[in-house]
Amino acid sequence: MSHSLETKTNLVTDNQQEKANSLSITNKCSNTLLKANPAGISTMIWLRDEEYLLYRAPYWGLTLDIANLNYRCYSCNKDGITEHNPYHLLGCNKRTAQFTQRHDHVKFLHTKAFQTIGCSARCEVLPFDAPYQMLKPDIDWIAPDSTRHLFDVSIIHPHSKTHLKDAASQPLKALFTAAHKKESKYKQASVNIKSSFHALVFDTYGNVAPQTQEFYIWLRAIARENMSLESADTLVNTLEYDTACAIARHNSRMLLQEDARQEMCFHSASSLHL
Ligand SMILES: [Zn+2]
Repeated sequence: MSHSLETKTNLVTDNQQEKANSLSITNKCSNTLLKANPAGISTMIWLRDEEYLLYRAPYWGLTLDIANLNYRCYSCNKDGITEHNPYHLLGCNKRTAQFTQRHDHVKFLHTKAFQTIGCSARCEVLPFDAPYQMLKPDIDWIAPDSTRHLFDVSIIHPHSKTHLKDAASQPLKALFTAAHKKESKYKQASVNIKSSFHALVFDTYGNVAPQTQEFYIWLRAIARENMSLESADTLVNTLEYDTACAIARHNSRMLLQEDARQEMCFHSASSLHL
């Protein structure tokens, strides 16, 4: 009895997944969903109670209804994979369609906010010449003060192989590293065309990278110069809240494996017609 307890304690202490989880759920300063007071925020997206519960379930150690009998991931078709790692469903590398939908939703929210503040904001641009012509920032924005800003959006999963070590070491370290990598990648190319680059990096918990938090402070200042104080604050608060809600909503769908199962139904229906 005492031996099994000790073994369990060692497992928990050494478990990087648990460490990453506990460091990620305590960042109230960087997690819009945790710190937000939805009352008073005029927002496009409302998170339903069941979506919020589903989204938080693996982080709170709840099983809810996210595990099927065989603990199967319908995307990579592996049985047993979610039993000991419920986070797999948010990071399975066979879920590229869902990752793209979530990424594009967050990109759309930011593009719309930039357009509201003023001047032009475009998506999927190719602003760089050789040797950087392969770099494709997500958004290109000319701000009202005529400065040019390029953005790339990324939503990382702290429990994935790439980020787990950082995520388990210090709060926000995985986010900081991911944003820093993007900044390094785009730095010289952006300087060459007299623009600034900003990494918009979030994690699946709704935490925001320190560099992105700094950008939001600057964005609020620019918005205040070009709109009424109240409109500017509402716009930035709404952007932060809607981004967190969008990530949570897409995550809850991924945990339910809705897309993968719909695809399976579609494929089996198609095969019936052949
Ligand atoms: Zn999988």
